[in-house]
This record gives sequence, structure tokens and C-alpha cells, in this order.
Amino acid sequence: MHYQPQRDLLNDRIILVTGASDGIGKEAALTYARHGASLILLGRQEAKLRQVAQAIEDEGQQAQWFTLNMATCTPEECLQLAATIAAATPHLDGVLHNAGLLGDVCPMSEQDPATWDAVMQVNVNATFYLTQALLPLLLKSDSGSLVFTSSSVGRQGRANWGAYAASKFATEGMMQVLAEEYQNRLRVNCINPGGTRTKMRASAFPTEDPQKLKTPADIMPLYLWLMGDDSRRKTGMSFDAQPGRKPGIAQ
Ligand code: NDP
Repeated sequence: MHYQPQRDLLNDRIILVTGASDGIGKEAALTYARHGASLILLGRQEAKLRQVAQAIEDEGQQAQWFTLNMATCTPEECLQLAATIAAATPHLDGVLHNAGLLGDVCPMSEQDPATWDAVMQVNVNATFYLTQALLPLLLKSDSGSLVFTSSSVGRQGRANWGAYAASKFATEGMMQVLAEEYQNRLRVNCINPGGTRTKMRASAFPTEDPQKLKTPADIMPLYLWLMGDDSRRKTGMSFDAQPGRKPGIAQ
């Protein structure tokens, strides 16, 4: 994507990122901060979140962090977390649902049911609980943007992608339903990052040369565009951070 964001694109915005401790989510949090946003970081590992928050503060922006294990969290825990955030934060201008679990890459007949459940819990259920809990804060913004993270296998099923593909189809569905329900009140869209150099990608494609992949930093233009006002009229859409890239194949 050829997009040249203004340096102050996200000035005074408050943006929450899930899975902000590593990979694409960490890069998105740092990038949003560099464009003026205050960040709320969610993740399951305190030490990693502290490091990201420190890096953001070192660059002069504010960052708060909260631990939430999405593999085990309940709707009540998400409501409690939203109440804690609301006590310190007047509104949310953006939420990036980025945390994700890959699960087993193997045929459906071999998918382990417990791993299937874990993938659905992190990618679908916990993402839904958090969305429900955070919606009131997002609706207080006059330019709220809710962004989900999809995948090419969330639009076209492919052998061996089992629970992950099913969870990303569910993600696309959640996005479409919410976009229609909140028309004119909240933008709701999906990003498909495309193959990106992270630990999830390495575990899905262990023999691939990571140097041939885009880095999280390379794909940030779309992440910025969807959080800022330049995409204000877009809702209910699923965007590719690497348009034209063939799914599942290193280039
Ligand atoms: P990483 O594995 O590098 O990062 C995943 C993030 O999610 C980490 O911050 C991780 O936390 C967090 N997370 C995982 N499980 C939990 C949990 N139980 N509770 C809370 N947080 C959790 O993945 P990527 O950066 O590659 O992926 C980011 C998103 O992009 C995912 O939704 C993925 O499906 C999607 N995607 C990625 C592609 C790629 O090529 N990389 C391609 C298409 C889609 P921790 O640091 O504790 O592990």
C-alpha cells in the first residue's frame, strides 16, 4: 500500500491493541505511538508488555498495559478490564484485535479437539467478549475504528488450516455483522496482514526463509490508514496489507 500518513495522524487518539507484546501487534502499537496516539496494550506476559510500554514512553508517548490471557478469559473478566480502562480513559478511538493463535496445521481428521477449542477461544470467543466489553468506550469517540485481524484462509478455505481458517472466517463474519449494526457510528474492518516475518509465520512455515518475507514494519501503512481519518468512510471491508501477494507462499 502506498500511503504517506501525516506524522500527527493519531494525535490525541487513544488506541487499544491486543497481542501487543510481539510480532505485528507490538509493531502496530509502536507505530501508532510514533504517530501521536496514547496506547493501551493487552497481552498475556507482563514482562513483554512492560518492555513495549517502556519503548513507547521512551519516545514520549503514553502507554498503559494490562495482562489478559485470552485462552482462559471469561466475559466477566473482559467487562472488569473494560471498567478498569474506563476509570482512567474517557473513550477509545481505536481497537486493533490482533492477538491470535495458529493451532495445528494438519488435516481436519487429525485436528486435536482441545487445540481446536483453544484457537476458537483466543481468536473468536475472547475477541468477541472484549469487543462487547469495549464497545461503549469506542462509541464515545467521534471517529472510532474497530479493526479485526483476518487471514487469506479466512476468505478461502485451504487444506490443513483447520481451526485457524474456521476462526478467521468467524472473524470476517463478526466484522461484517458489527459494521452493519453500527453504520454511521463506528467503522469496523478487517486486515489480512499477508505472510509477515513473525514467530507465528515461522511456526506455520518452518522451512521458509524469513528474509523473503515483509516485516511487521513494512505492512504498517494499512494499519495506520485504518486507524486515522483518511479511511473515515470505510466500513464492513476486509483489506490486504500486501495486495497481490499469493496466499501461503513465500515470495
Ligand atoms: P505472533 O505469534 O508473533 O504474535 C501473536 C500475539 O498474540 C502475541 O502478542 C501473543 O502474545 C498474543 N497472544 C497469543 N495467545 C494469546 C493469549 N492466549 N492471550 C493473550 N495474547 C495472546 O503472531 P503475528 O504477529 O504473526 O500475528 C498477529 C495477527 O496476525 C494474528 O491474528 C494472526 O493470525 C494474523 N496473521 C499473521 C500472519 C503472518 O504471516 N504473521 C498472516 C495472516 C494473519 P505472547 O507474546 O505472549 O506470545
